[in-house]
Amino acid sequence: MASESVKVVVRCRPMNQRERELNCQPVVTVDSARGQCFIQNPGAADEPPKQFTFDGAYHMDHFTEQIYNEIAYPLVEGVTEGYNGTIFAYGQTGSGKSFTMQGLPEPSSQRGIIPRAFEHVFESVQCAENTKFLVRASYLEIYNEDVHDLLGADSKRKLELKEHPEKGVYVKGLSMHTVHSVAQCERIMEAGWKNRAVGYTLMNKDSSRSHSVFTIGIEIDAVDERGKDHLRAGKLNLVDLAGSERQSKTGATGERLKEATKINLSLSALGNVISALVDGRCKHIPYRDSKLTRLLQDSLGGNTKTLMVACLSPADNNYDETLSTLRYANRAKSIRNKPRINEDPKDTLLREYQEEIKKLKAILAQQMSPGNLSALLSSQVPLNPVQIEEKLVPPPVIPADTEAEKQLIREHPSLTDLLSPDEGDVRSEAKTEVDQGPEVAEEVVSAAEPGVAAKAGAQVASEAQPQPLLVMTSMRRDSVGVEVAVLTDDLPPIVNQQQVLARLQLLEQQVVGGEQAKNKDLKEKHKRRKRYADERTRQLVAALQSSDEDGGDWVLLNVYDSIQEEVRAKSKLLEKMQRKLRAAEVEIKDLQSEFELEKIDYLATIRRQERDSMLLQQLLEQVQPLIRRDCNYSNLEKIRREACWDEDSGFWKIPEPSIVKTSLPVVPTGPQNKAFRKTPAADNGEAGMVRALGKGGGGGAGQGVGSGRGFIPTLHWVTTGHWAAAFIPRSLDLMSALDSRTCG
Ligand code: ADP
Ligand code: MG
Repeated sequence: MASESVKVVVRCRPMNQRERELNCQPVVTVDSARGQCFIQNPGAADEPPKQFTFDGAYHMDHFTEQIYNEIAYPLVEGVTEGYNGTIFAYGQTGSGKSFTMQGLPEPSSQRGIIPRAFEHVFESVQCAENTKFLVRASYLEIYNEDVHDLLGADSKRKLELKEHPEKGVYVKGLSMHTVHSVAQCERIMEAGWKNRAVGYTLMNKDSSRSHSVFTIGIEIDAVDERGKDHLRAGKLNLVDLAGSERQSKTGATGERLKEATKINLSLSALGNVISALVDGRCKHIPYRDSKLTRLLQDSLGGNTKTLMVACLSPADNNYDETLSTLRYANRAKSIRNKPRINEDPKDTLLREYQEEIKKLKAILAQQMSPGNLSALLSSQVPLNPVQIEEKLVPPPVIPADTEAEKQLIREHPSLTDLLSPDEGDVRSEAKTEVDQGPEVAEEVVSAAEPGVAAKAGAQVASEAQPQPLLVMTSMRRDSVGVEVAVLTDDLPPIVNQQQVLARLQLLEQQVVGGEQAKNKDLKEKHKRRKRYADERTRQLVAALQSSDEDGGDWVLLNVYDSIQEEVRAKSKLLEKMQRKLRAAEVEIKDLQSEFELEKIDYLATIRRQERDSMLLQQLLEQVQPLIRRDCNYSNLEKIRREACWDEDSGFWKIPEPSIVKTSLPVVPTGPQNKAFRKTPAADNGEAGMVRALGKGGGGGAGQGVGSGRGFIPTLHWVTTGHWAAAFIPRSLDLMSALDSRTCG
């Protein structure tokens, strides 16, 4: 399979007000033509600047429009063809990540990559011929290693990451929103962005510490010349990462420091994944070390086209962070991905829609002549996007998972709901089982909020003013396995033609594509933009090649006219090599000191966490003896043994606290009890009992022994490191009593 490397560009923002007031000096310079970036160490003016080469380098006077057209365009275009794509912005807080991803509405040249991607996707969709698309969006945030849905009903709810053998890692319960237009995408983006801001204000959070991921999922159904469907699915992740600055430098304390450590953890994990991938010798890539790396797993070394935009501050007081960002970006360049078109994806919503549309048309075709049907379909007033949204997503419904959209569509009156009530019920069950299989059937039943389907049904019914018609409608599978409506003689049920039409219209408007297929100007513009990106890549490669030749070893190949000329040329080459050597030596020193700083950071984190853990341990030791003996938590060691780490939720699964009440049978004191003989084993038991009384001091045990009322003691080891006595009826076999002591 062909592989390609992760594309990396850098973008340096202008000096901000504060930097200007502090009279900061610029230390970053950029050569856009060659995609090179230079950084001068302000503390060592005599050192040569460090040089990095990327797939693009942009300075303060460049607009996001240019960055998008030159480098992001081919990636997003790929997504409309069925590839996966990820664009992520990396850099310290205030370096311009959100400015690049989200951007400003004005001037339009500074609109961010996310809104540009919306426009681009819909332009491609509208220009496509013989192809239908279903476009859905989701927006999530990772804060403190917790995943939140920014578009869900409750953005504070923590969501779990799950792994699916085919879909890969996904977020369980994340709401997906079908979008039909750029404006709708923008509304969704704004809603999520506001949710983020509200969360920060309410919870005293800091936006620079969260990662956000906006995802556009596209399902594509292309029909070839022979009328055969080809399904594909692409996904575009647009990621605005948390600030990459080293947290010890930010002076955070308390809760803030705790948060910062976790974010550091995610970004460090991202760095470690990048290093492991670049190293090539590592067999284990630590994707599972953080939520972020698990989610981005496919974007780094997997089936995705990936672009990193590294954002920089030009100011000398940010030199360390800027250099660290450049190094991070430089490493990411060497990651190789293996993107491929996702063909024949399973379980697509688009296929479900298309099939239901076919069935609805079949029902209508049975009712009227083709001429009437097409006249009727064309006479329907198209719904505007807001109406569609309202119909599809009734406000009180909270989508239960990534399949929520399917769920909602199913909850709306579908083909089967359009039958008379009794028949509808029966068939609805049958359809669910046949079409979706047992797994989904369960999900539909269990995830449906009570009354939602009824409400939705009522809503459409009241809108459509039912006009019952007598028609044929029983479902059977035809030869190719598609359910078709057929005429039945027995008890013809009632189908409301208006409802069928409304449903058909609703479904057809979910699916987009080809609206501008005849618009030559738009198609030409689309092609031009594609060519522009290709042309620019060629220019960059050519510029780099020519600069290599300029500074290369050509001098050695030349034939010299005189010895003086040869000396001059070789001295020049020697000088160049010396400069390179010096730069490499400085780089080694720099890396060593950076490594030292990082080590200090990690050690400080370990020490702090050790102290936290000791505090908890000491608290436990104080509290544990106060726990009643019949509670399972009195044996903490056992609880520890039973606890297991749940990777998906990121929590320990620990036993529920419970009180075990054993009511012991009263054993009559009869003559056989008197025959009770003291054996050597019983001696041991009693010796142990005395020990228990001495150390454990259980008052109950003392009573039992003293009274001799039909119970004999056994011993249990409890976590305090003491033996505690319990009592079993005397009538039990003594040996087994002693055995249970050793097992206790
Ligand atoms: P980050 O998301 O990395 O923390 P922001 O994107 O919020 O940083 O940028 C910080 C500030 O700098 C914002 O006021 C933003 O408008 C400004 N800024 C960032 N990049 C640029 C740029 N390329 N041109 C002009 N202003 C910029
Ligand atoms: Mg930001």
